[in-house]
Amino acid sequence: MLTSQAYVEGLRRLKHEVYVLGEKVEDPVGHPILRPSLNALAQTYALANDPEQASLLVRRGSDGESINCFTSLHRSREDLLAKVKTLRLLGQRTGTCFQRCVGWDALNALDTTTFEMDAATGSEYHGRFLDFLRHVQHKDLTCNGAMTDVKGDRHLRPSQQKDADLVLHVVERRRDGIVVRGAKAHQTGAIFSHEVVVMPTLAMRADDKDYAVAFAVPSDALGITHVLGRQASDTRKLEGGSLDVGNAQFGSHEALVVFDNVLVPRERIFMDGEWQFSGPLVERFAGYHRQSYGGCKAGVGDVLIGAVALAAEYAGVASASHIRHKIAEMIRLNETLYACGLACSVAGHAMKSGTYLVDLLLANVCKLNVTQFPYEIARLAEDIAGGLLVTLPSEKDFSHPRIGPLLDKYLRGVDTVPTLDRLRILRLIENLTLGAGAVSYRTESMHGAGSPEAQIVMISRAAEIEEKKEMARRLAGISPSQANAH
Ligand code: SF4
Ligand code: FE
Repeated sequence: MLTSQAYVEGLRRLKHEVYVLGEKVEDPVGHPILRPSLNALAQTYALANDPEQASLLVRRGSDGESINCFTSLHRSREDLLAKVKTLRLLGQRTGTCFQRCVGWDALNALDTTTFEMDAATGSEYHGRFLDFLRHVQHKDLTCNGAMTDVKGDRHLRPSQQKDADLVLHVVERRRDGIVVRGAKAHQTGAIFSHEVVVMPTLAMRADDKDYAVAFAVPSDALGITHVLGRQASDTRKLEGGSLDVGNAQFGSHEALVVFDNVLVPRERIFMDGEWQFSGPLVERFAGYHRQSYGGCKAGVGDVLIGAVALAAEYAGVASASHIRHKIAEMIRLNETLYACGLACSVAGHAMKSGTYLVDLLLANVCKLNVTQFPYEIARLAEDIAGGLLVTLPSEKDFSHPRIGPLLDKYLRGVDTVPTLDRLRILRLIENLTLGAGAVSYRTESMHGAGSPEAQIVMISRAAEIEEKKEMARRLAGISPSQANAH
């Protein structure tokens, strides 16, 4: 297993093409806007090397060696449960998205799907996938799971788009591999990933055959370009201080990843045209990632709840009954997210390849709650934090020789707490609810791993409503023949 230092240093060798704020960045590792995101990702390496956390983060690889859990396949329900606990712990440590779970979820979804594809079609994808997995495990690589295409006109199928590249597709089939073109959007952690693991964006049909493609390539492969997405208050990281950013150590990033005629060698292709299997692959990947959110978002929620409790103490209102009730409500919502993450893991089952999949109905319920509860938690946090959350002067004002002492005097809460500590905690709340951290705590909660409507469709499909109707008919004394008449 790599140490966090070895991971960070190794990234300097990648020859990425990365753009930030309109400029090509030669050293993403040292870039002040990107560095907090790298620090968060590196925590997945640091924690695996911490003997106290080994029981959660260290697993056995295909050859029996110790591997980082983020490169592992889930071989039991206990593995699925340990995943949710690990993600909560990392959310607590970083207070943000630590970006490595997407690749983990992609590996597990590809394992089960390629196994079943080979059995049904005689293809050789599973063997290739296992070779790739071994490579990832031995080198302890970070994978960027890339599913979401830019999609163009959503009203049209992939093959009907005026510009065919709006959904990533195969443009050429050669003896040594395939050439692909397109772009994947919102790619969490992409710039600090060693490999991009590409999957189809939705269930394809026969006409969309060239879009039913899955593969892995190094993230610095020829033809790949990364363009960083902006976050609220991102340029505060360029100001040199630590207070105004709220969470100075950790952050996350998303990039638009463009594939301009990228060659994928034959041994790295895991699906090419088997459109019937694109649906199961998408569904399973989404299921795993919807489970993930029950861990990581609960961990970040813990940080926000702690920050709010401190802000209330610093303002002298911690014992007010309405504050206690609101904090208890935040806890209830946060623990419900976690409970759903655990529940879909406990109800998981083994697939044909031997890898365990979460219960898809419960995983979708988990994620649908995630699209709502962090917003309510953030609302309560803003309620308790008060207006100072958005009217605080800057760090530079606090260190100014004339106005600094005035701010220190007038913005103090309880006398025993330094004004700057009050400032620090309010800035952390601001980061999580309105600033750079809100990208992962709020909007990613809404749209990451699929927007709410995608979960509603899955829930409606998996809920077996006919069985429920039958239960009701039986108790209401309606005979089956009467039921059929309707
Ligand atoms: Fe992992 Fe959560 Fe970030 Fe997704 S949002 S990559 S599950 S930390
Ligand atoms: Fe995500």
